[in-house]
Amino acid sequence: MAGYIGRFAPSPTGPLHAGSLVAALASYLDAKANGGLWHVRMEDTDSQRCVPGADGHILKQLRACGLQWDGPVCWQSTRSDAYQARLAELRNANRAYACSCTRQDIERALQGEPKPRARHQERVYPGTCRAGLAGRAPRAVRLLCRELDGSDVNISWSDRRLGQQHQNVSQAVGDFVLWRADGQWAYQMAVVVDDAAMGLTHVVRGADLADNTPRQIYLQRQLGLATPHYMHTPLIVGPDGRKLSKQHGAPAIDTLRPLETLREAGRALGIYPTTDQLDSWLAQACAQWSARWVA
Ligand code: GLU
Repeated sequence: MAGYIGRFAPSPTGPLHAGSLVAALASYLDAKANGGLWHVRMEDTDSQRCVPGADGHILKQLRACGLQWDGPVCWQSTRSDAYQARLAELRNANRAYACSCTRQDIERALQGEPKPRARHQERVYPGTCRAGLAGRAPRAVRLLCRELDGSDVNISWSDRRLGQQHQNVSQAVGDFVLWRADGQWAYQMAVVVDDAAMGLTHVVRGADLADNTPRQIYLQRQLGLATPHYMHTPLIVGPDGRKLSKQHGAPAIDTLRPLETLREAGRALGIYPTTDQLDSWLAQACAQWSARWVA
């Protein structure tokens, strides 16, 4: 596809594990099968969660698996000015507002709510600071999740693997944070600004992130940015049935046996090259991916 630009965007909170390699491989194959570019972006905005040296380790792991990226790596920790400029646009347009609420303030405001409004342990923000701070100190900045006429934000989108999706962002999430109370950029803000700045046409990433997509599409619209095509890949679960994750101690991929490691990731994607050479394995994988996913 002419002009295809894709990416892999790991958070350097530890080395790649079998689950993150699936997202890396899928995004790589989709870019290559479309004759496009595949960029790497280090999502290192959360300084408390980032592990020193993990970024270099991830790049080595990708290289060991033959997944060579195009152009320079983007580090989100260098992108603050761009996020700041976009946040100013939203503030000036009254689409984002300062919020002084602590977690306890939010819990208190939601007491007596008829149904528990919890989502990933985070409650839907009750809108306390929408009308202003009345002298309270600002802590975070939130995006107003209301259409201009005051109605709910309803986002429909078509995922290339999951099919048609829909979310009422106002009811399911509410006004979400762009700038966090701990002085860091929120994932939604950084990802939307950078996906646009890098000119991405396609996003291929793990299905655990699919739930963020409606928020990102809404934020893109608020900023007048294009929406890329999305595909969310299958997740790998551990022996306990939970998604593999660094927090739950998933082991790093074995880069001493890159072909075995790639085969495992390939199986999760329904791809079964037969060769024993890294280069030709990737070429066959690309052909199989193309037959399945490229029109
Ligand atoms: N940095 C995120 C992660 O490692 C991925 C973000 C994305 O692909 O949009 O889970």
